[in-house]
Order: sequence, then structure tokens, then C-alpha cells
Amino acid sequence: MSAADRFAVLSTAEPATGQRVLFPRAVVLGGSIAGLMAARVLSDHAEQVLIIERDDLTELDLTDEQIAADPEGAVAPRPGVPQGSQVHALLPSGLNQLERWFPGFIDEALAAGAVNPPPDTNRFYMDGKLRDDPPTGPAAQALISSRPFLEALIRHRVLGLANVRTVKGRADGLVLRDDAVTGVRYGDGSEEAADFVVDATGRSSRLSDWLDGHGFPKPPMQRMGIKLNYATALFRRPADAQVWTCISIANPGPGKVARIGGFTPIEGDRWTVLVSGYADDRPGRDAGEFRQRCADDFPPEFGQVASTAPQVGDVITYHQADSRRRDFHKLSRFPARLVAAGDAVASFNPVYGQGMTSATLHASALSEYLRGAPDLAKPALSYFQDVKVVVDAAWQVSTMADLALPHVDGPYPRGYKAIQFFSGLIFKASMRDHSVNQRLGQVTTMLEHPSALTKPRFLLRALAIGARA
Ligand SMILES: Cc1cc2nc3c(=O)[nH]c(=O)nc-3n(C[C@H](O)[C@H](O)[C@H](O)COP(=O)(O)OP(=O)(O)OC[C@H]3O[C@@H](n4cnc5c(N)ncnc54)[C@H](O)[C@@H]3O)c2cc1C
Repeated sequence: MSAADRFAVLSTAEPATGQRVLFPRAVVLGGSIAGLMAARVLSDHAEQVLIIERDDLTELDLTDEQIAADPEGAVAPRPGVPQGSQVHALLPSGLNQLERWFPGFIDEALAAGAVNPPPDTNRFYMDGKLRDDPPTGPAAQALISSRPFLEALIRHRVLGLANVRTVKGRADGLVLRDDAVTGVRYGDGSEEAADFVVDATGRSSRLSDWLDGHGFPKPPMQRMGIKLNYATALFRRPADAQVWTCISIANPGPGKVARIGGFTPIEGDRWTVLVSGYADDRPGRDAGEFRQRCADDFPPEFGQVASTAPQVGDVITYHQADSRRRDFHKLSRFPARLVAAGDAVASFNPVYGQGMTSATLHASALSEYLRGAPDLAKPALSYFQDVKVVVDAAWQVSTMADLALPHVDGPYPRGYKAIQFFSGLIFKASMRDHSVNQRLGQVTTMLEHPSALTKPRFLLRALAIGARA
């Protein structure tokens, strides 16, 4: 099966069927988006699922009603997810997966306070020009909230499953016997038996070191130095706001500074406003400077919000040095009954909003693996092959764009110059042609595999239009 066909299988919105219990006890390390989604899938295949998380998830567990009663006060960023204060956009493909695994999720999230802004309240600027060709169809579907809000809704649904529980503790190693995982170590020397383990401890995962300690090779790591700087602040959103969402992308070029900014409506009648820069272009924490950047470096809507809406709380900054991927699929030896998911496998430049959606697609890959009558005495190679399809798709889109940044110096994919040339023409065509724009939107929202952009009829059309632009 081609990568595109496999991607279509993994990103299906159809409910999974044919689940059966394969083992007594699964343990998930990390209870953020990837860990929660993995636990949801495992609940169909294990008698018991235990999530080991360094933050106390039980303490944070809230019903939708509790959240809806006080959407602003009920949920807050937690220490284990330091990026949680920053803008988090969920791509339509990730939304499909949430609805797939938690039927009714979209309506329930909207009832609890998430926002689906009316289409005529959205603005999208590319290189300072207002675009009037918004996405339509599935790519237009939006569920906007703060990251802690979204995570709280998923958490409540997972912890509400009869066979899932959680314990607070820091995982610090694996127990292995005969090249298979049999347990995990956590906390102050506690040990938990496990028939299957998922590492979902995020981009700083120590799984590679643990493997090394047991004499297994470490997965090769690829990094792309992006030097991304974020600053985010919340503002009070008036009921009669004309513009709810505004995204601005300024591409690099001679005499131009690459910058991405956005404001989106979130629960509790607020906006979350992001200004970002690269390398030495580093927004600080000063509220005055933040307002100035909104006014000077972004379309007028940004200055309007920052100068007229009351700010709520402080400006919060975040620096991400690199995008990184751990290529587990390249390993010749790996323990049986062990997988990794989410940022523990790959984390990308967050401006493309791929992380949470990738985590949901890794869960889909886990479901495919467990429903495929796997030989649990062997490493989960087919799982890692499927995860590679998802990682490649996201990596291709985000790193191709990032390689155009002047401070990014590779690694370059094979045929980079040609890919860059054709991508440039497709991008130009998307600015002029509705169907090219829609197809590009399907790929950037992870509804379709990037190879959809290389189908001959599409490519010829896009290149012809792009060359005339
Ligand atoms: C600034 C920024 C902005 C982003 N914006 C977006 C966006 O717009 N859209 C999007 O889709 N994605 C975005 N992302 C990515 C997104 O945050 C992640 O991809 C997503 O959270 C999935 O990650 P995860 O669950 O794999 O890991 P994380 O969310 O990082 O969670 C890891 C979990 O593991 C726990 N943990 C870690 N170590 C241990 C241990 N030893 N023992 C027990 N528990 C442990 C942590 O406490 C945490 O709960 C952004 C990321 C950043 C940095």
C-alpha cells in the first residue's frame, strides 16, 4: 500500500471495529494528548489501562458541566505541559479523530465553551494581503479553545472509561525480560507490571536512554534548528467583535522578516493572541512591547485588539530550538510490547499546528496495530511503519516551509531544489486558483497526504497557473 493510501486508512473518521482484548494490563507513560489518546485505544484491547503521569490528573479531572460553569477559571495550564499557555490550533484531521474516538465530542465541546467562529468573522493575511478564499468543506471545520480546555475534555472522557485509571509519578525506566517489556519503574522505586507500554512523555522523552541502558540501539534523531520564539497574551473579547480570528503569515524574502501571528477566540469570551519571530527576532514579556509588535508587525486587526481589548494576565513566552524526529522505524532491534507516540516520536514547528493532530493519528496507528492480530512476542514494527507515514507527512509540510527561512540550514531532503521550485509554483497557484488552494488546504490540515499535491492532473494545472502568476 502506498504511503498516501496508508495515510487515508489512518486518518479515517469511521469508527474502529473488530476490537478484542489482547492482554491484561497496559501502561501509558504521560497523560497529555498522545497518552490520553493511546489510553483510549488501549481501553479496547487491555483489561486494565494505567496512565502514569507526573502531574496529578485525578485532581484535574472536571466534568463538562463544571467547565461550562466557569470556562475561564476551571482549567489552567499545568506544569507538565509548559507549552499549554500558548495558542494551540487543532487541525480538522485531529478533530475528526476526536469525534471518531469520542462520538459527540464536537457538540459537547461547543456546549462546554469551545468556539466555532462564523466564517465571515475570519481573516487570513498572506504577506500582508488579505485573502478572500477561505477553506470550505471539512478543512473549514473548527473547534477553537485553549489547550488546557481541550485537554480537560479529552482527559475527562478517558478517565471516565471503566478500565482506565491514573497514578501520579515520574516514570524513570523499563523492566525487560527476554527482549520484551514486562513493566515500568516510576516514582521512588515503584514498579508496575505491564503487558504493553506506550511512551507518551513528550519531546524530552528519555526512552532512548532507557533502551540504551538495556543494550538496545537508540532511534536515530533528526533535528532541524528552527529557533522559534512565541509570545502569547489573552484579551477580553467583546460580544459584538467583528473579527474573531485573524492569521497573518509573512514569508521570508529579500528585505522581509518571516513572522507568523494569530488571534483566535477561546472559551470564556477571550482571545488568545500570538506573535512569533525567528532567531534574534524575539518577542519579550513586556505588555507594552507586545502591543507595539501587534501594531507594527501585523495587520491592523492585531493592533486593534491589543490596543482596545483589556488584557487578561501576563504575556507568556516560549522558545523552541528545533523540530525533531526519532526514527524508530529504522531500528533493527527493539523490545516487544513497547511503542512510543506523540511528541516522543516527533515534534514540529508549532506554527503549523500539527502536534496534537499527529498524536491522534498515532493513536489511530496503534488501533490499526492492535486490531491486526499482532504477534506480541515481536517488536511492533508495523506500528512504527504507520507512525512513519504520519511523521513523514507532517515533517514534509513543516520542514519544506522552514527550510526557506534564512537561519535554517538543513537537513535538506533529497531533491530539495526541485521540490522547492515546484512547491513555490503550487503556492503561487494557490493564491490565484480556488481548487489549488482547497487541495493545498486539505494537505496542510492533514486531511490528505502531501502526495495529493503530486498527482499529475493537479500538478500540471498548479504549475501552469503558478508559472503565469
Ligand atoms: C509553543 C507550542 C505551541 C504549540 N502549538 C500547537 C498547535 O497550535 N497545535 C497543535 O496541534 N500542537 C501544537 N503544539 C504541539 C503540542 O503541544 C503537542 O504536539 C501535543 O501536546 C502532543 O504532545 P504529547 O502528548 O506527545 O506530549 P506533551 O503534551 O508534551 O505531554 C507529555 C506528557 O508527559 C508527561 N511526562 C513527561 N515526562 C514524564 C515522566 N517521566 N513520567 C510521567 N509523565 C511524564 C508530562 O507531564 C506531559 O503530561 C505546540 C507546541 C508548542 C511547544
